[in-house]
Amino acid sequence: MYSKSENLFEQAKRVIPGGVNSPVRAFKSVGGTPIFMERAQGPYMYDVDGNKYIDYINSWGPMILGHAYEPVVKAIQDYATRSTSFGAPTELETRIAELITSMVPNVDMIRMVNSGTEACMTAIRIARGYTGKNKFIKFEGCYHGHADAFLVSAGSGVATLGIQAVPGVTTSVSQDTLTAPYNNLPAVQQLIADNPDQIAAIIVEPIAGNMGCILPQPGFLEGLRQLCDENNILLIFDEVMTGFRLARGGAQELLGIRADLVTFGKIIGGGMPVGAVAGPKELMECLAPAGKVYQAGTLSGNPIAMIAGYTLLNTLNENPVIYQQLAEKATYLVNGLREAFGGAGVVHQINQIGSMLSAHFTEYPIIDFASASAANNELFRKFFHAMLERGIYLPPSAFESWFMCNALTTEDLDATIQAAKSAMQAIK
Ligand code: PMP
Repeated sequence: MYSKSENLFEQAKRVIPGGVNSPVRAFKSVGGTPIFMERAQGPYMYDVDGNKYIDYINSWGPMILGHAYEPVVKAIQDYATRSTSFGAPTELETRIAELITSMVPNVDMIRMVNSGTEACMTAIRIARGYTGKNKFIKFEGCYHGHADAFLVSAGSGVATLGIQAVPGVTTSVSQDTLTAPYNNLPAVQQLIADNPDQIAAIIVEPIAGNMGCILPQPGFLEGLRQLCDENNILLIFDEVMTGFRLARGGAQELLGIRADLVTFGKIIGGGMPVGAVAGPKELMECLAPAGKVYQAGTLSGNPIAMIAGYTLLNTLNENPVIYQQLAEKATYLVNGLREAFGGAGVVHQINQIGSMLSAHFTEYPIIDFASASAANNELFRKFFHAMLERGIYLPPSAFESWFMCNALTTEDLDATIQAAKSAMQAIK
């Protein structure tokens, strides 16, 4: 069933560390061979062995309208004949900046970078440059990319691989990263009290997606906002996952809470490598060349990436009904999954908001990294493989969110629910 993938993986391991260019793809915690893909269309991916999958990863978020979305593909093709990179400004960069600042609340300006990592790294640098303070607070199990300072109690692949301290990250860097459990306001208050006038920023995934999908409890984000206001700390919403996925204006719009800086990635590039940091003029003009906080990129604002992102964002902006449709599809799926798990007598928790969700096998609510870690992740491993065999491509870790695309049909959702029922029966 997977013989070509197995063969390609053996070849890859000889020349690529671990055989993959990003650890979460490696099936490390669930075991088995990562599936090598050949092509994808809409909600389906097709592997090198000729297997077809309904995709619930969607390139870890970007493919919100499905793979090979025709207007994006066409825009890339058309633009590529002009050049794939100028290293000089284009009008397109201004147009996408205008579009984004019109969609997202509380931002006047945006700087394009090449990944979510760079976006978060830059946001922290702005916060430090602006406040003149060094430390920042992040939450256990949240992931903000692989810059040194973020690899402390990080989620996503770091959690999946169970890495406690990342070799290569020096103590002098990591000591400025303070951590608190997600949804735990008193812990944040304590950190602020213990480090008076030293904290530049709090960076948070407003809806966490890197330890499974975890919703902020009522009052958590509001409390962070208040603590930031009282202590001259900048609040950074990492909306690399949630931006343009949960609403046109991301979590800020959905939850009605203002962030000082916002980071983006994934959807903003329509599947091309893009990230961005956005905020009010006063903060954003700290960045070079307007200010002295240096940040740069040979390929930043790359025209192919910009046209892909612009085309996708424009579609989302003009068709906000997409968000409603996605949420309805997600609710339909979640109800079906609950039935499948419940019918098999499996204790479970499903966290969902809009088109992000995750399933955990435990009776306790999943509210932070500790609760996500305490779930039955051995059962998740079995469930993942049983679903894969049935043509359903889920994230290969319980510490990741599932992402839905709007190309999914009711038949696809029914097929997924059916697969979940049959998978659970088979596991039992
Ligand atoms: N922040 C969040 C919330 C993310 O989910 C990710 C990636 N999954 C990143 C930052 C880093 O983005 P990238 O992988 O593009 O560097």
